[in-house]
Amino acid sequence: MSEFIKAAKRLEKALIAERRDFHRHPEVGYHEIRTSGIVARQLNELGMQVRVGVGKTGVVGLLKGQQTRPTVLLRFDMDALPIQEENDVEYVSQNDGVMHACGHDGHVAIGLCAARMLAEHSDELKGSIKFVFQPAEEGGAGAAAMIKDGVLLEPRPDYVYGMHLWNERPVGWVGATDGNMMAGSCSWQCTIVGNGGHAAAPHHTNDPAVAAAQIVVGLQTVVSRNLPPSELVVVSVTQIHCGDTHNVIPTEASLAGTLRYFSDSAYETVTNSVTRIVKDIASAMGCTANVTFSTGYRPVSNDLDAALLVREMAQCVPEVSTVSNDERTAVSEDFSEFMVDIPGCYFFVGSANSGLGLDYPHHHPRFNIDEQSLTIGAAIMASIASEYVL
Ligand SMILES: [Zn+2]
Ligand SMILES: [Zn+2]
Repeated sequence: MSEFIKAAKRLEKALIAERRDFHRHPEVGYHEIRTSGIVARQLNELGMQVRVGVGKTGVVGLLKGQQTRPTVLLRFDMDALPIQEENDVEYVSQNDGVMHACGHDGHVAIGLCAARMLAEHSDELKGSIKFVFQPAEEGGAGAAAMIKDGVLLEPRPDYVYGMHLWNERPVGWVGATDGNMMAGSCSWQCTIVGNGGHAAAPHHTNDPAVAAAQIVVGLQTVVSRNLPPSELVVVSVTQIHCGDTHNVIPTEASLAGTLRYFSDSAYETVTNSVTRIVKDIASAMGCTANVTFSTGYRPVSNDLDAALLVREMAQCVPEVSTVSNDERTAVSEDFSEFMVDIPGCYFFVGSANSGLGLDYPHHHPRFNIDEQSLTIGAAIMASIASEYVL
């Protein structure tokens, strides 16, 4: 462990420069051409077997050990967001309307640094390490695309690890939670059909706007009156569309939103409650309604031994002052796809520094990180892999 802390410190300047280069040149999901090109070239130079075009723009580097097992998969996502950057920094985004506002620029740089540190031990490796650079985490299902292209085959990993720089917490904080850590996501849409007419004669109509308003209020009871207080579930209404002008009661209204959940039973309860509330309120208002659900990413649930290993490794890093087993968030992450039947852990590396104004939330146009978090992330990632293969 300690050698990777030292090695990360030795490589810190290059690590920060590399992160800033990726920050200057952000690319949205499935368009990570420049980024994946740099990744593939560097992994090649380190003597790895490299596969490109895995899940369109994904890259996989295999650092092969002398034995067939174990294989550890380390995953780093590469995509940026369609956001206009508002930071006033020398390395500000050069791509109009595109920004690394989630920290994935840091993830790629951390991944390459960990690859470099572990490749220095290639002669002593027993097991193998698969470095996975994933496209399109931000809603583009990049993990599923890579799995479809065989990222979990030849060799199949025995353990999977991933991490996120985390501006909800200060630099020096690391969180790896036993079991549930990040929620599953699901979007929902509903259409309410009434009977439109003249706005001055509402008694001749069944007004879908009034039904929609009541449904929005009714949905606030889905979590508070159907689930135990210990269950972390979110129901949000994010879209209300209805009507085109001031003097017509429209025929239709539509609503949409998002659900977040941690258990299959909570998912079932929530979708049943939403359906019942939408249909029954619409019916009480003389309207009809239908609801559809589109399942997104499944919950991230960490293996207990894997989470313990992350916490042990984090505790060895001098710059880490707090190690948490108690961080849960309703944010979703498609790293969960890699964990379906392979044990592993997804963890957070605190990256905020409020004293330096580096504490804007993820996806904000002023999002930026304390770059000290980069060496912390790289040292932990390399140490985790070395525990299995060195
Ligand atoms: Zn994000
Ligand atoms: Zn992210």
